[in-house]
Amino acid sequence: MEFVEPKVFLIGETRVVEEGLQAYLQHVGTPQWSTDAPSDSEKLCEVYGRLCYRSFEPGLNPNVTRVRKGNANYLGHVLEVGHGSVIEHAVLNFILADVSRVFTHELVRHRAGTAISQESLRFVRLDRLSAYVPSHIKEDEKGLEVFGRTLEHLESVQRELAEAYAIEDEKKFDRKKKLTSAFRRVAPEGLATTIGGSCNFRALRHVIEMRTAPDAEEELRFVFGKVYEAVKDRYTSLMGDYEVEVVDGLPWIRTPHKKV
Ligand SMILES: Cc1cc2nc3c(=O)[nH]c(=O)nc-3n(C[C@H](O)[C@H](O)[C@H](O)COP(=O)(O)OP(=O)(O)OC[C@H]3O[C@@H](n4cnc5c(N)ncnc54)[C@H](O)[C@@H]3O)c2cc1C
Repeated sequence: MEFVEPKVFLIGETRVVEEGLQAYLQHVGTPQWSTDAPSDSEKLCEVYGRLCYRSFEPGLNPNVTRVRKGNANYLGHVLEVGHGSVIEHAVLNFILADVSRVFTHELVRHRAGTAISQESLRFVRLDRLSAYVPSHIKEDEKGLEVFGRTLEHLESVQRELAEAYAIEDEKKFDRKKKLTSAFRRVAPEGLATTIGGSCNFRALRHVIEMRTAPDAEEELRFVFGKVYEAVKDRYTSLMGDYEVEVVDGLPWIRTPHKKV
């Protein structure tokens, strides 16, 4: 048995195919266009936004006599007016490790703009159990002792079941899988597991805002505070409008541009 803290790994991001973009810019008549975007993700979102009005430079569209310059300025305006579809083009890939099934169950309610791969507890047999300890449990010595003892007991139940059904000696993988899935039914909802999630920036912003709010579940607030930390300095044009207020020891990440 082990007490653990959730961990956030940003493992992937969108990349621009420069030759393709250059060929398009040539095609539309602005081969010299460039941007000061801090990341490929933000460069792409700017390109898709400018494509709509052909607003790479004045005159490409005879109706456009002035254009907004600079990636932060351009995307800042997109966020301000709520043209959220523009920021769906770039995707980030995360792995969230040592998060509970409480966490994953709430996370997967977010569907729009997301993709999920979750550790299978039909296949991955539970031998050691670990869990995040919520602050209210931590605050009370007796409560913490009960919490820890229960986790230890449930861990021993997993071992007892494994022994009772001789799963170690089982040769047929199909039966192993069925037994593993049967045993997990008596594991706690708080057990630490792993989930991989990818999402576009529109979805990411929505989920960070919802799940760091003071009424959200503590572990979700903890994890999405870390998710924000992982992205805030890397994507300053798309994530730079947030303000952080600490409520109950965890960050509440807010923006005036709600629900882009
Ligand atoms: C504090 C808190 C408490 C909660 N309590 C409960 C609870 O007690 N019980 C419970 O069941 N759930 C609960 N939830 C989950 C909540 O109801 C949502 O299911 C979850 O937060 C997903 O958010 P979303 O609906 O914005 O979906 P997302 O998939 O994140 O979608 C983003 C946005 O896209 C749009 N969208 C997405 N799908 C559709 C669609 N099919 N049709 C039209 N527009 C769409 C909506 O504008 C939506 O807000 C809670 C969430 C929070 C943050």
